[in-house]
Amino acid sequence: MNTKIVSITEDNIDPSLIKEAGEIIKRGGLVAFPTETVYGLGGDALNADSSKKIYAAKGRPSDNPLIVHIYRLEDLDYIVKEVPEKAKKIIDAFWPGPLTLIFEKKNTVPYETTGGLDTVAVRFPIHQVAASFIEAAGGFVAAPSANLSGRPSPTLAKYVREDLDGRVDMIIDGGNIPIGLESTIVDVTRDIPMILRPGYVSKEMLEEVVERVDIDPTILDASCKDRPKAPGMRYRHYAPKADMCIVRGEDKKVIDKIKELVSDKDNYVIISVDEHMKDYEGLNTKNIGSISHPDDIASNLYRILRECDDEEVTYIASESFDDKGIGAAIMNRLIKAAGHKIINA
Ligand code: AMP
Ligand code: MG
Repeated sequence: MNTKIVSITEDNIDPSLIKEAGEIIKRGGLVAFPTETVYGLGGDALNADSSKKIYAAKGRPSDNPLIVHIYRLEDLDYIVKEVPEKAKKIIDAFWPGPLTLIFEKKNTVPYETTGGLDTVAVRFPIHQVAASFIEAAGGFVAAPSANLSGRPSPTLAKYVREDLDGRVDMIIDGGNIPIGLESTIVDVTRDIPMILRPGYVSKEMLEEVVERVDIDPTILDASCKDRPKAPGMRYRHYAPKADMCIVRGEDKKVIDKIKELVSDKDNYVIISVDEHMKDYEGLNTKNIGSISHPDDIASNLYRILRECDDEEVTYIASESFDDKGIGAAIMNRLIKAAGHKIINA
């Protein structure tokens, strides 16, 4: 398949290109597009064959459901049975935005889109290219992240190309992605809403709107043996090709431990923060941002993991980060990328 690459950015939304992208979806094709979280791989959410194509293009197991993207709130009722009171409050506060909600699905959504589940994941993105594209595509775009299954989610169009060139009809290059980590997923079918995947919208933010929000206990605890409730969280994911570990503890001890770990390695990278760069002088480091700007750390993480792949790095030692706020999402992805290998310094 020949993949057409077009550039559509939030400050230059070309209506004829958006229309063309929308027509591809309506004809049952696939388009990768930018959102505020990561690039998505879109198909018609209401067309079972389109969803099958998404799984095939990604090499994704078909029991791992897709997220249905909408561009206006009125369309929610067409695909979900009920919007519980607490969900309404959460929607009021955070939609459009980087938050996915799980509802009971209506029959309008095929099981191919929900991986056989009776629930459907819905997101209403704020990114203007995404919104215009979803509208042009008929209003319901199923999309997982636009990477090959198991690779880090793409935060730049060149990474979408690396994974999906020849596998999709079009890639929309929307430039840099603001957040760089996948959406928060919250199951609102439960009495007490539960975070199934942490993201930019944190537990603390949600609890300002609804009194209490639980968090799937399997998410942060590396030793927890229960199965995560979001099917996608069960797979090895977000993973670089290198052998990776996370070192945690007091700063000084972490730095010493990391130096010791890489001392007998050739092709290694140390993932560290601005503040510690001077401590690793002469060693191979990647600066993920400043401790005081966790949003930057979030937005740099996947790019750094991809760069390690491109540079054929075989060993990655990463520092650990504070897990408050968006830090919960950062640590969740980092722990998965490291295959749960955590060393206490
Ligand atoms: P991705 O955007 O590639 O991260 O994939 C979508 C994520 O949403 C996966 O982790 C899925 O497991 C999760 N997801 C989608 N639908 C549901 C659902 N009905 N219940 C729980 N998790 C879901
Ligand atoms: Mg994904």
